[in-house]
Amino acid sequence: MQETKSTCPYCGVGCGVIIESDGAQITGVRGDPTHPANFGRLCTKGSTLHLTASSPITLQTRLLQPLHRAQRSDAPQPLPWDAALNLATEKFANTIQNHGPDAVGFYVSGQLLTEDYYVFNKLAKGLIGTNNIDTNSRLCMSSAVAGYKQTLGADAPPACYDDVKHAQCLFIVGSNAAWAHPILFRRIEDARAANPGMRVIVADPRRTDTAGMADLFLPIQPGSDVMLFNGMLHLMLWEGWTDAEYIAAHTTGFDELKALVRDYTPERVAQTCGISVADLTTAAKWFAQSKATLSLYCQGLNQSSSGTAKNAALINLHLATAQIGKPGAGPFSLTGQPNAMGGREVGGLANLLSAHRDLANPQHRAEVAALWGVADVPSKPGKTAVEMFQAAADGEIRALWIACTNPAQSMPDQATVRRALQRAEFVVVQEAFATAATCAYADLLLPATTWGEKTGTVTNSERRISRVRTAVPAPGLARHDWAIAVQFAHQLEARLRPGQPTLFPYTTDDADQGAETVWNEHRESTRGRDLDITGLSWETLESAGPQQWPLPEGSTTGKARLYEDGVFPTPDGRARFAAHAWQPTAEQRESRYPFSLTTGRLRDQWHGMTRTGTLGRLFGHVAEPSVQLHPQDMERRGLKNGDLVYVTSKRGTIVVPAQADTTVGLSQAFMAMHWGSEFLSGCSSTGERLAGVNALTTSAYCPTSKQPELKHAAVKVLKA
Ligand code: SF4
Repeated sequence: MQETKSTCPYCGVGCGVIIESDGAQITGVRGDPTHPANFGRLCTKGSTLHLTASSPITLQTRLLQPLHRAQRSDAPQPLPWDAALNLATEKFANTIQNHGPDAVGFYVSGQLLTEDYYVFNKLAKGLIGTNNIDTNSRLCMSSAVAGYKQTLGADAPPACYDDVKHAQCLFIVGSNAAWAHPILFRRIEDARAANPGMRVIVADPRRTDTAGMADLFLPIQPGSDVMLFNGMLHLMLWEGWTDAEYIAAHTTGFDELKALVRDYTPERVAQTCGISVADLTTAAKWFAQSKATLSLYCQGLNQSSSGTAKNAALINLHLATAQIGKPGAGPFSLTGQPNAMGGREVGGLANLLSAHRDLANPQHRAEVAALWGVADVPSKPGKTAVEMFQAAADGEIRALWIACTNPAQSMPDQATVRRALQRAEFVVVQEAFATAATCAYADLLLPATTWGEKTGTVTNSERRISRVRTAVPAPGLARHDWAIAVQFAHQLEARLRPGQPTLFPYTTDDADQGAETVWNEHRESTRGRDLDITGLSWETLESAGPQQWPLPEGSTTGKARLYEDGVFPTPDGRARFAAHAWQPTAEQRESRYPFSLTTGRLRDQWHGMTRTGTLGRLFGHVAEPSVQLHPQDMERRGLKNGDLVYVTSKRGTIVVPAQADTTVGLSQAFMAMHWGSEFLSGCSSTGERLAGVNALTTSAYCPTSKQPELKHAAVKVLKA
């Protein structure tokens, strides 16, 4: 038996795993006791990884060779790799030459490895000259990115997992960590048991499993988070619970914020949020007066039309009370995907550049152009996820390359996304699983490797970089994501810049060597930046294990906690308060659509179920989709458990069994995000066949982060 250390490919906790294999097949998996993210523990998903990797069912679901269809109505036919890459090159080069570089777009994934991400980013921005590259991380973390940058000056989560045990007050908001980040939640349970004085506040529209352990549960109305945070600050000011000394020494902009929150009176806030003044006051007091307050937050804050405001308003509380830069304190965004952080680090979003540089900054563009050896990086902002599919639906983007993500299920407003995929003249889907709904829209399908087969690095929520390692060979003709991008880039270079030296000097014959060369280039791009990892080689990761950034040349270990000196990465070294007024959700309940639909994860499923859906035991927790409603709402509509209902938004309708659930508030409805076409059918408002909850969700997005409001839509529920 062979043992290979790697990292779990599911959530942003980033647990270390040891893969057992016979050299050809993965036979087992267990937690890595030496990995600082989990110390050997694994949740249900992580501990069944081997069963989803090597079962006959899983292998039947894999894409094992390139496939092409000449007509959209044809069944895809096998194509040799060379011919597949020639075809992709031909189509993309012609589109670029005839319609300009912005006529193509790349939509990639927070599940790619950092090396994959780096190459795709360089391919789009460096070689082709378009910033039309975005990722499903836009749907996951872009509001957290914008919130950190707006207030603290850099996209750097300042806390670490170890802070959980040092915290005296935990403020968990918009996160069901018990299900979405289970191994981190075990730490919270341990810390609580070891420290009975710890207070836990949970704010969430649903009484989740996480809320079940709260000392104070705030069942806030969907979208009322900024109201809550501003109201807490109002009380802190009134009661003298802020830290005037810290504010004066380390921040700017407090006067403007103070003037703003004057109107957030306890009565107004309590009424809008749907909580009591007493609970609001308790929350403000515990947050401000504990020795160390740690906020943990996730998609409830991010997937919102005011996502940046929610993130910034929460960080304001930490700055106003000096709950940052010390053990057990700070704002700590939990990453949804395993490598959304790595993608941010290489600048793999339409508005970013390598190493946390900004596309809008001419100096940053010049630095990246010099690093890549190109004349320039275009200044025109690229299309973000929602904008990219809208542009394809409008005919502006003509060729799309989609890698390791499934927009035909996971993007909001599915009717628009599917129109985009149908209208695009050429769609490449680079994917491991043939069952991903997006495959049905591909002109060219390229088989990619996945967990257990890949090599590279990922970064988890606490800025910790871990190795992902190959345990078994690629099945069929599948290739590594970064290598596919490099091979395509080599062919495209011959068309776009003939006779010039390659921008992609990485061997694809030796995966480890090639990926390490990419890593070293990325590493060098971080020199002098806030995430400087020039001291972190693959050799160090091998000998010393996973490390947190920054880790500049000359350092031996990374930094567990940021801003301990009160100096922030802003021009004047001070953090900035951001004054954001509360805005309601993009859609509000009204007489025709009287329910607030919220969405979320299940404990044992992952994204669109391409991997977890192959394993029967992972349906033991929740076997089938449902819309959960408060028992009183069920009764008023004459519904019994299991009755089929139409759930309808302005964009579509799905048919699903109703389920009474007291964890859901009155006039609210909850649905899990995972169920796709095999489980949940419906149609668009114009009758087109659609599936899954995203037939209903809205693509309205935060004006700053452009992250769509997947967490809220107004719906009606009628008996079918
Ligand atoms: Fe994997 Fe997340 Fe579970 Fe850890 S907590 S085993 S990273 S799914």
